[in-house]
Amino acid sequence: MTEEKSSTLYCANHPTRETYLRCNRCEKPICTSCAVHTPTGYRCKDCVRAQQKIFDTAQPIDYVAAFFIPIILSFLGSLLVGMVGFFIFLIAPVVGWVIAEAVRKATGRRRSKPMFLVAAGASALGGIALAIPILFIALLGVAGPEILIDVVWPAIYTALVATTVYSRLSGIQIRR
Ligand SMILES: [Zn+2]
Ligand SMILES: [Zn+2]
Repeated sequence: MTEEKSSTLYCANHPTRETYLRCNRCEKPICTSCAVHTPTGYRCKDCVRAQQKIFDTAQPIDYVAAFFIPIILSFLGSLLVGMVGFFIFLIAPVVGWVIAEAVRKATGRRRSKPMFLVAAGASALGGIALAIPILFIALLGVAGPEILIDVVWPAIYTALVATTVYSRLSGIQIRR
């Protein structure tokens, strides 16, 4: 009630501190030690925290799901690589889509960029797992470098799946 009369503001968190700043989101008066300078102006810590939650909602358990679901599904998908040859160009994006949907469901649509990267990395690991022995054989010189031709399709599959998973998961963030 006295607020209208006096122009002096007091920090919402420190009632004894006079201030001239207000949070530009919730309009709460805030002192200089409570104000956070953001690209859009001064904000209170509560608003900054609330804003961050929108962009980074992943829980630790989500990272576990974002690792194991892609690595298993991507590995299963990679079993097809040897059978379908060229059609892997059609199948890999579908596998990536399935993985992205499964991760979204398992994580309750929570998100964070590191989590998307974990999912993409796990997809890559699962996809290339079968090819790793071939790489070792080539490195050890047991077989000639021509054996590396067997790595080409798994590598294409892996790249397609990992990029599909990442773009689908992070695409959700852009659309909202
Ligand atoms: Zn605020
Ligand atoms: Zn304060």
